[in-house]
Amino acid sequence: MQLPAPLEAKFNELVKRYPRRRSALVPMLLFAQDQFGHISDALIGEIARRLDLNTLQVTETLVYYSMLRRKPAGKHHVQVCTNVACMLRGANRIYELVQRKLGIGHQQTTKDGMFSLEEVECIGACTGAPAMQINYDYYENLTPVKVDELIDDLDVGRRTEASPYTAGALHERHPAEVPVTSRRWGIQNSRTLEVYRKHEGYQALQKALRQMTPDQVIEEVKKSNLRGRGGAGFPAGVKWSFVPKDSPKPKYILCNADESEPGTCKDRPLMEFDPHQLIEGIVIAGRAVNAHLGYIYIRGEYRYVMDILDGAIAEAYTAGLLGKNILGSGFDFELYTHTGAGSYECGEESALMESLEGKRGYPRIRPPFPAVVGLYGCPTVINNVETLSSVPSIILKGGEWYANLGSPKNGGTRLFCVSGHVRRPGIYELPLGFNLKRMIEEVAGGIPNGKKLKAVIPGGSSCPLLSAEEADLPMDFDSLAKAGSMLGSGGVVVIDEDTCMVDLARRIMHFYAHESCGWCIPCREGTHWLRRMLDRFHDGGGRAEDIPLVGELAKNMLGRTFCPLGDAAALPTISIAKKWRREFEQHLKGRCPYKPAESLVGTL
Ligand code: SF4
Repeated sequence: MQLPAPLEAKFNELVKRYPRRRSALVPMLLFAQDQFGHISDALIGEIARRLDLNTLQVTETLVYYSMLRRKPAGKHHVQVCTNVACMLRGANRIYELVQRKLGIGHQQTTKDGMFSLEEVECIGACTGAPAMQINYDYYENLTPVKVDELIDDLDVGRRTEASPYTAGALHERHPAEVPVTSRRWGIQNSRTLEVYRKHEGYQALQKALRQMTPDQVIEEVKKSNLRGRGGAGFPAGVKWSFVPKDSPKPKYILCNADESEPGTCKDRPLMEFDPHQLIEGIVIAGRAVNAHLGYIYIRGEYRYVMDILDGAIAEAYTAGLLGKNILGSGFDFELYTHTGAGSYECGEESALMESLEGKRGYPRIRPPFPAVVGLYGCPTVINNVETLSSVPSIILKGGEWYANLGSPKNGGTRLFCVSGHVRRPGIYELPLGFNLKRMIEEVAGGIPNGKKLKAVIPGGSSCPLLSAEEADLPMDFDSLAKAGSMLGSGGVVVIDEDTCMVDLARRIMHFYAHESCGWCIPCREGTHWLRRMLDRFHDGGGRAEDIPLVGELAKNMLGRTFCPLGDAAALPTISIAKKWRREFEQHLKGRCPYKPAESLVGTL
């Protein structure tokens, strides 16, 4: 099959990035789809030939990823997010409006081929909710009027500019903020090497290479009490120390940039505004564990962010900060981006490695853990974007300095994405241990329209919800665990008194049912069963005996699934069924008594 020259060049470049050709499969499929609009049988055959696979291997992988299509989409592929943060700020109304305006429904295309429509899961724009993507462009803080105009403009070829940056990331600093990883946000051209260097950029790498041994680097990170910012909160320095020094196998650094937890959108601006900080953190991690190759696995929806990272990586190579003999130290490190193609499950570290190897994102049995048997069966460190972005400051200013910014055993600061019913949704960098109530009331401006707080999701949609009475607590890993919840990924979703908790539970369960990979029965069947039950309740068809059953069913999933997704679906459901049982009882009298949310944008 003859490919257009740019795609041919891209394919040739992609296969060189990996020790095993199959790893190029998902990126090749996505880039091919960008070119042709969908993935045809001929393309499957061509990609299979180039990767020494058969067409069945390619097909069974591609159908796993939600962004990959076998049929053409419209010229403008409209993807409306209706997940929790967007739902609370009127996304369902926006979705209804788009359906009416285009005269099509979910996964349909207009007759003229101009538009196709999809209701999608979280696109990582929670602080700019309600939000949507058209092709890869983000449109945030939507109102019905804005959406109406946008579609008209696209229809007549008058393009409306997408949001220029992650909404909610660039705002006036609140006095309580302690900017560390976000300190260069808002500086003009912060993503360039020149500006990064003017603001202490790559000095930590110089120090790690010239003045410290790999063990000293690990010790400094241990001293900082830096805990994984992706959700699990495992101490980063301890994780690095698990990598066997005497292994003859190559070692890898993987940066998990598959940010997909609903309510979480802070890795996006970290990469968008300060890509060199992340690159520097990755190379330091490589130096610490003696790895010479790394990948940034980035969710497919973040295409513009990947382009920014690719630009920064190219700059770093030119300046001798990546590649052979970095800064004349004798240390070599190669770094590449790798695109996912739509799968929440790939954020789980072992599923991410499977995906990077060009397969479906199914999780692996652990132990062995990735530090010993990871990518291609070799020792691998996997850390989240925010974790690795914190490393340069730790090395430069010392682990103790960083640890003292936070609370005991919870070092440093954290990017909190405050979304939902607040006056000033935004991404705020606050010390770990900062009070949640203060965060909502003072930092994010409180709840609009004189409403009272009903509930908070403290760290992304997989966390048990806190009631208003429970929200007066320090935001760190240990305090949240003591309160029966989790700090998770830093996605704080604020919910006001007018919100239907049954509807919220229903929407959360739709997400997990959609994302369940189907590998194990309690998750595959449990999420779908619960989804149907919660839908029925919300529509007024619930039965009194189902109220305890919701919680029981969810409890039966806990600890019985292959990966944490089963628990992630069960935990919020159990908390809602227990704390807001009264609302389930209200639904026994008929359809939902609460009004769906309207867009809050422009009304505050
Ligand atoms: Fe797949 Fe769910 Fe089982 Fe995880 S818990 S392996 S997502 S079916």
